[in-house]
Amino acid sequence: MTEIVVPFGVQPDLAATMDIQIPALAWQPAGTGTWQRTLRIDGTVTEVTVTSDERALRFRAARPLPASTSRALEAVLRRQFPRQVSTLALDGHPVLAAMGRRYQGVIIMAAGPFEALILTVLSQNRTGEIVRRVYPLLEARCDGMTPGQLARLGERDIAEVIRSAGPYKAGRLAAAARHIVAEGPEAFAAIITRAPAEQAMTYLTSLPGVGHKTAACVLVFAGQSAATLPVDTHLFRVTRRLGLTSHDGRLTAASRDAIVSALLGYGPGLAPAHFLFLLLGRATCAAGLPRCADCFLSQLCPSAQGAGPALPCPA
Ligand code: SF4
Repeated sequence: MTEIVVPFGVQPDLAATMDIQIPALAWQPAGTGTWQRTLRIDGTVTEVTVTSDERALRFRAARPLPASTSRALEAVLRRQFPRQVSTLALDGHPVLAAMGRRYQGVIIMAAGPFEALILTVLSQNRTGEIVRRVYPLLEARCDGMTPGQLARLGERDIAEVIRSAGPYKAGRLAAAARHIVAEGPEAFAAIITRAPAEQAMTYLTSLPGVGHKTAACVLVFAGQSAATLPVDTHLFRVTRRLGLTSHDGRLTAASRDAIVSALLGYGPGLAPAHFLFLLLGRATCAAGLPRCADCFLSQLCPSAQGAGPALPCPA
């Protein structure tokens, strides 16, 4: 067995890290406090598990690896688990500062551009549990998640594998893969990681089945963009309750753009931290009645029970 230890500044909160971030959906739960996935490194296929301890993540490959493969695996893992919430500047608003303290141990994950695109499309209108079941099957069927491998698989085989995530997505995935192969996977990666956000957004939303939210997920998780963020119903609801955004309850292109602009105005930490609003939504700020008595933000939140009515939720 090969073990790789990646240190962090504060105790990693692996459970919250693996909860809802798009790159985390490539990892599967494997017992208490443990996640696993299959990785292909230098032609070697190996299962990798991850656990956390006081100041580090501990990765274990299922079999001994040569030193060069082990170094390559460590580089991949450090790219996938690059930094913690504690490193973000979240001082633009007292609510954000409190969230930064509460979630300081959460690791902001990253994925390669194509993997991020596939995971995000699979997650459209589906739960994380479904994506976690389907993605490894698709990756195994492709023998590695690359545009070329997915394009070779073809629409019918993709539909068969991703059935529970929506077989109608197979045509989109196959067409996107073919498009990226035709343009060149390196050019695709360069647009996601190096082009101005507006140009990258225009490019991504020209791909079949890719709207603003999917494109923003790819840009934030694969391009480390601080210039946009995905707006879903949870972020839409929670940020308004917290007084960070204002809107009339209808999620339209105009209200979405206004929300993105308002949130980015609190500083560059907002884009990578956007998923903390989803964690809060799952923990206490539910779409029905929020559980303000259990919420660590109740003293700061203008919608907390006792400080005013909880605002109605968008559909
Ligand atoms: S105090 Fe209540 S309304 Fe405000 S964020 Fe917490 S759960 Fe939501």
